[in-house]
Amino acid sequence: MVRAAVSLRRMLRRVSGPLIAGAFAAALIVLEGRRLASGARGLLFAGASLAFIAQLGTKIVAARRARATDDPTAPAIDLELAVLSMVGASGLAMVLPGGIDGHAFAAVLVTAAIIATFAARTVAVTAALVALAIDGGARGSLLDGNVLRALSEHALLLFAFVALNGFVLRGRIETIGTRARRRWEREVERMREQARSYRLHDAPASTLEAPRSLAIDPERATRSGVEEIQIAVRFALDMLKRSLGAHTAILLFQNGPVDRKSKAMLKLAEVVTDATAIAEGPFGTGDGVLGAVTRRRAAVNLHGLRAGYRVPYYPQPLGDDSVTSIVAAPILEDNAVRGVLCVDRTGDRPFSAHEEELVVSAARFVLRAIENERVFGRLERSKAEQDQLYAAAQRLSGALTETEVLEAGVESARAIASFDLAAITMVHDAPGATDARIERVHEVRAVAGAADFESLVGLRFGDNGGLVAQAVKSRCSLPHRGDHDPSTQVVFTRRHPLRVELPDADDTDALALLDEAPRIADVRSILVVPLTLHDRALGTLVLGARRRGAFRDFSAGDGQGSARRTLEVLASHIATSLANARMLAKLEELATTDGMTGLLNKRVLLELGAQKVRAAARYGKPLSVIQTDIDLFKRINDTHGHDVGDQVIKGLAGILRRLKRSTDYVARFGGEEFVIICEETDAQGAMNLAERVREELLRTTFHAPSGAFQVTCSLGVATQPHDGTTWDELYKATDDALYVSKRSGRNQTTLAPGSTAARAKRA
Ligand code: GH3
Ligand code: MG
Ligand code: MG
Repeated sequence: MVRAAVSLRRMLRRVSGPLIAGAFAAALIVLEGRRLASGARGLLFAGASLAFIAQLGTKIVAARRARATDDPTAPAIDLELAVLSMVGASGLAMVLPGGIDGHAFAAVLVTAAIIATFAARTVAVTAALVALAIDGGARGSLLDGNVLRALSEHALLLFAFVALNGFVLRGRIETIGTRARRRWEREVERMREQARSYRLHDAPASTLEAPRSLAIDPERATRSGVEEIQIAVRFALDMLKRSLGAHTAILLFQNGPVDRKSKAMLKLAEVVTDATAIAEGPFGTGDGVLGAVTRRRAAVNLHGLRAGYRVPYYPQPLGDDSVTSIVAAPILEDNAVRGVLCVDRTGDRPFSAHEEELVVSAARFVLRAIENERVFGRLERSKAEQDQLYAAAQRLSGALTETEVLEAGVESARAIASFDLAAITMVHDAPGATDARIERVHEVRAVAGAADFESLVGLRFGDNGGLVAQAVKSRCSLPHRGDHDPSTQVVFTRRHPLRVELPDADDTDALALLDEAPRIADVRSILVVPLTLHDRALGTLVLGARRRGAFRDFSAGDGQGSARRTLEVLASHIATSLANARMLAKLEELATTDGMTGLLNKRVLLELGAQKVRAAARYGKPLSVIQTDIDLFKRINDTHGHDVGDQVIKGLAGILRRLKRSTDYVARFGGEEFVIICEETDAQGAMNLAERVREELLRTTFHAPSGAFQVTCSLGVATQPHDGTTWDELYKATDDALYVSKRSGRNQTTLAPGSTAARAKRA
């Protein structure tokens, strides 16, 4: 019931538009045709109007919502709304005095015009056809000549309106829209350029992707930074102009980031002026006022400028009664002229020394405003990097094994600044090839980045002149400026130059084509950070980027971003986590093995034994346990000393390790006793192994200061299920068998009675 009601409601809602429009249109036609008695006519009209108005209201709301949310059903809603409006307009025209053939027809035309302007063309044409249908329907007989003439007049008018508005007006609206968008784009580009020239940061030029990882919106941060500077600069210029009674107060600023090689160019940054025209620049700093300021790196105060003199920021040479004095103060940063603040004045009033000082202070004020914003921007960026670092630290501290640390390390490094390559190398000592000297070996252990970098994993190389080896030696990040030149620099080894076949990450077509047509692009920026821990480098973190200068801006020491420092902090995090992982592995080893022999210890074997016997019993598989004990070991200790005794224990351990199969478990159970668990091994197999151990030990000669000697051992063997089905039963059986070996003269192997009986029966 409920479901049926809901689906009925849904269906009604879906068709309500056309339904009500149709009903209203029908009512209009009927009314106009006067085919009903007047009472019924009134009622029908009132009802239809009410329903119609309600429907129109809901459709207008729906259409607005659909447009705002880019709803895919927006065109359908538009069509409904258009048809409803047209039906409404026709109705209005019919009930107004004069009827559809009178002035009221204008309502239909205006509606058609509005629809044609804002809705799609097909919608406009449909609405016009609906209007005509109602018009025609209401007139009754279409065969009447007068009716036909009136109708075609209306049709002509309607379609003329639709065409006029749909094509002409709409085109005009689109042009205005495009122009506004272009203006906006220009504004954004200008803002970026200013940010670059103020060096707020390496403002993302349109071609350069902004780091994905930064949580802040770089565009927004840049915009607000530029705005702050503009406000401060305008304030300073305004104050200067007013207090000095100036004609123009203007700030010219370096065009683009500093580049010591290229000639400095200045551009208009901000101006307050009474002049009618100001040139935007760029202005050279070779001669004139700007040249003088640049050369002297100090303020210039000129007076008595004559007509015809060229002040760079005026498009025309000076006229007769214009500017006569000018003060230009440099904006100095790192002893380089980054901008020039100029103030000029008319009416033969030279600037006094005091006034000149005011301009110089204003120049300092401007510089501070820029520096403040830079610091602020840096803070905001470093906060984003801190967040990344925090996430990385969390990931790293969750990594417990060396492999996990390496993986988390390269991924975190890449995330911090979205580089194209991140790798970790580790260094370890290995015996030298020629003599007894120890040699350092570097190995690439983990790589994140393009797939073809993966082949670097496992690459080993010695202490060569490459960046990795150098960074380990010097414990400094290399190279200094972060540039990579494969022709002169070696990162890992000379035989593995860094080349990337890397299409853009979002260019799926290029990715698909990668195999067929690899596009080779060099790694143009490289940074090798040592993984230092307590003054020792465990290895390096290698970062590569295809874009030039990816590490340069912050390695130049001008404080542009702290990513390099962030990476160094990350590197020390990685180093610490690596050391932790190694310590953990060591602890684990200590906990499971016997220190003297490296075999399993008793605790682990007891656990393993219980588990393996249970599994063998459940699946009905054979399993054997062997126990060995060195004969008269007390006497060896007494005769040759404890150290020699230890050598004997290690000797037997070596024999056991050599003879056991890979599926057997051997443990030192205590003193000079060992236990072996042999899975899937019956009594015969275990006896064979035990005998070989005994014979091998017998053949071994041990050496003591007092001379060479031989050692024997006794063994006991038990198998499940014949000697027991639990670990305790089996172990007890081997112990008893071993006791029999000892009592019967030592240097022999005894099989437990249950297994012996079973073997006899089978035989
Ligand atoms: P048996 O043939 O009956 O086994 O005679 P045994 O002298 O070997 O007797 P037992 O197995 O009871 O002696 C174990 C001796 O091994 C006792 C102890 O002095 C010595 N021992 C135990 N652990 C070590 C060790 O780690 N190093 C050395 N050098 N001796 C050990
Ligand atoms: Mg013993
Ligand atoms: Mg013994």
